[in-house]
Amino acid sequence: MAMRLSPIARAALLANLVAPGLLAADKPNVVVIFCDDLGYGDLGCFGHPTIATPSLDRMAREGQKWMSFYSAAPVCTPSRAGLMTGRYPIRSGMCSNKRGVLFPDSGGGLPASEVTIAELLKEQDYATCCIGKWHLGHQKQFLPMRHGFDEWFGIPYSNDMHVKRRGDPAVPLMRGDEVVEQPANQNTLTKRYTEEAVAFIDRNKEKPFFLYFAHTFPHIPLFASTDFRGKSRRGLYGDVVEELDWSVGRVLDKLRQEKIDKKTLVVFTSDNGPWLVMRLRGGSAGLLRDGKGTTWEGGMREPTIFWWPGRIEAGSTESGMGSTLDLLPTIASLCGALTPKDRQLDGHDLSATLFGDAPSPRDTMFFYRGTRLHAVRHGQWKAHFWTRGWRQRKLNQHETPLLFHLDLDPSESWNVAAKQKKNVATLTALAEAHSKTVQPVVNQLEVQLEKR
Ligand code: MG
Repeated sequence: MAMRLSPIARAALLANLVAPGLLAADKPNVVVIFCDDLGYGDLGCFGHPTIATPSLDRMAREGQKWMSFYSAAPVCTPSRAGLMTGRYPIRSGMCSNKRGVLFPDSGGGLPASEVTIAELLKEQDYATCCIGKWHLGHQKQFLPMRHGFDEWFGIPYSNDMHVKRRGDPAVPLMRGDEVVEQPANQNTLTKRYTEEAVAFIDRNKEKPFFLYFAHTFPHIPLFASTDFRGKSRRGLYGDVVEELDWSVGRVLDKLRQEKIDKKTLVVFTSDNGPWLVMRLRGGSAGLLRDGKGTTWEGGMREPTIFWWPGRIEAGSTESGMGSTLDLLPTIASLCGALTPKDRQLDGHDLSATLFGDAPSPRDTMFFYRGTRLHAVRHGQWKAHFWTRGWRQRKLNQHETPLLFHLDLDPSESWNVAAKQKKNVATLTALAEAHSKTVQPVVNQLEVQLEKR
């Protein structure tokens, strides 16, 4: 587990992160909209035939769609840790082989020694706000206010974590460190989150701000407000996604109304793929294989849109690889913050790619389930060393990794390892070299995490 720093050491560390900087007027606002369990195929602009997403379709027409953008992990807690820190979650200890994510009876959370996007931007005088699901530790010392956020309104973990036989309390809705409603009325959650987001933008429109808007949905159980319930052609799941789409529209409209759209980067993505075990109640990964909890493409490739009118070319599409791991270095670079130099980061600055000046700097992505490295993608090749689909109980180890070419075979249907020995060797070597960088923490983590 990473070392805990005293408040003074922590302040000194953060002081070193302050870049010569941009003038306040040049600092862009940043909004990250992060859905929970939304699949690659669940939006109109990513090919869904019956869910109507006019606001996201417009966002894509005015912005840039990323077709190969990955979350940091195929389940909630590690995925969020990766986004917040720009590091594979194994480096912060926010992963577990046994339970996968934090539960209401789990101890622990994101260590104070980790540096988050919010902390970097706080040092640049940004107003920072977290709205929605946190899931990086629900005890006070791990909540958003301890990780660089001025404000937080949302739920501390997943909306289904109220199992009576486990002794879970009803799901709390929190503002800062206080519970303001328990059980949270989930019917109106998307609506209320959206009102909070619009109000935060309104209060901070004159100065740079960072809004991390992590929706509770479409994680199951599904809830939609009366304006949306029963309205879509795709049942309750479609109703929920259509309300999320409305919410995105409200946020973008507010930026336009206040005439700050041309100085605001908005990123839309999801924490992991669709929850297929829930069948009709879950989403769709489109043509990608499998979903949440797996390291097949459907588990980790997310429908992603970057939007910044006047800076990002309208209606563009990026086929290079990107990841939520890249958001911290990208945002740091755009906002005049320096990234921490005393630790291994796993993200790349994507800004030149967003502005059409360079191909994506990311050529490799590692796919973890818990502390185990399951797969690696390099260029268009992806090798799987371990697999487990949602229908399978057993984890499969592949002595000779499975190998797929993702341009030719985005659904990972045809294993070509036998004919591609050189590529198998290259990807295996990349995985081995990467594993060496995390090995010092793995053994220690396995002991600590299994206790949770
Ligand atoms: Mg999730």
